[in-house]
Amino acid sequence: MAKSYRCSDIGIDCGWKGTAETTEELMMSVAAHAKSVHDIDPVPPELAEKVMSVIRDI
Ligand SMILES: [Zn+2]
Repeated sequence: MAKSYRCSDIGIDCGWKGTAETTEELMMSVAAHAKSVHDIDPVPPELAEKVMSVIRDI
């Protein structure tokens, strides 16, 4: 089962959606996206927790 995340799921006005085979891989692409698009580097633990809570199985 693959994992999916959207920035809009945590209330960020952004149309980005990430998918990966595992949560770990997805978190890595989320971190890369957060850095390049949202200027968030590194992702703070409370934000990572928020992201983890909205990751869905697809
Ligand atoms: Zn975004």
